[in-house]
Amino acid sequence: MKMKLLNPGPVTLTERVRKALLRDDLCHRESEFAELTRGVMTRLSRVYPEAEKTHVPVLLTASGTGAVEAMLSLVPKAGKVLVVANGVYGERAAAMLEAQGKAFEIVKSGWLEPMDLGAAEALLKTKAFSHAFAVHHETTTGRLNDVGALGRMCKMHGTALLLDAVSSFGGEHIRFEDWNLEACAATANKCLHGVPGIAFVIAQKDALARPSGATSVYLDLKRYAAEQEKGFSPFTQSVQAMFGLDEALAEFAEQGGVEARNHAYRQRTALVMDGLAKMNVTTLLGSRDAYSSILTSYRMPSSLSYDKLHDHLKARGFIIYAGQGRFQGEIFRIAVMGDVTTSDIERLLDEIRSAVR
Ligand SMILES: *Cc1c(COP(=O)(O)O)cnc(C)c1O
Repeated sequence: MKMKLLNPGPVTLTERVRKALLRDDLCHRESEFAELTRGVMTRLSRVYPEAEKTHVPVLLTASGTGAVEAMLSLVPKAGKVLVVANGVYGERAAAMLEAQGKAFEIVKSGWLEPMDLGAAEALLKTKAFSHAFAVHHETTTGRLNDVGALGRMCKMHGTALLLDAVSSFGGEHIRFEDWNLEACAATANKCLHGVPGIAFVIAQKDALARPSGATSVYLDLKRYAAEQEKGFSPFTQSVQAMFGLDEALAEFAEQGGVEARNHAYRQRTALVMDGLAKMNVTTLLGSRDAYSSILTSYRMPSSLSYDKLHDHLKARGFIIYAGQGRFQGEIFRIAVMGDVTTSDIERLLDEIRSAVR
């Protein structure tokens, strides 16, 4: 039985991407690898063509968290960051800045709430911040944050925005110019449908020209960008994960890019929401419109524990995802990225129906 992964990455691979992992061995210091890297950079730049001229993709071997942490090396040591958080990943960025010894202030909302834009604007007005940080799709709940509103405020007050787009890159629209985006961080193994191992930051060329604010040897974005100009990386890249990303990006472009992927996700997510609503399973966020196309969250029906539902579905070929932190045991989450069809979703709903009974 082939498992369908409905967790927020890693995703179920298409056969095409799985086969790409078996390409011939490559040394990461040879010209063939440089060619592969340049190809992946070009394909990545085309995901959001708007940023092709101003920004450059910088690739590193890490999980999504590594890319976010490397992105924060763009913040000068004397800079100050306004972190706008409403979930695990916003709060994690504050922990990273703390670890890097950089100044920051956090505007923290409850995990069920939208970003606190009022408080954010009041602070941005003080002009005390070199950067703001936000999470595009807060995977804790599935909320698609209103980065448009925050970004426009940042632009008005001359503050550069850094975005955790790990679970939205390729699946939702990102506006670099309107949102005043200096950089966004993402990974191969969520909406792009690659394998874990390669993550990246799409960074403004001007920002990479500044002295590095790195507080770590490995997560120094500027160092990667410099080596990458020659097609290489300061440290060993995950060659096979790069093969996977190369193929996944080719497939992504052929299928119609962000627009098509967003449409497909929306369709799958609508099916999940409608099906669960008919079983009286309620969404965690109340309003359907609050959600991304990618992931939705639901309160556990009173008849069932998370573990029971999880195990029932796993035995039938589906992996769902638990809540984090205080949501553990209280909710379940369903992501629709990867090689998942609407008929898979219909089968999933049948299985949930039988478990709820
Ligand atoms: C998945 C995710 C990350 C990074 O997670 P890793 O486990 O390090 O890949 C960061 N931010 C968001 C919003 C995510 O969904």
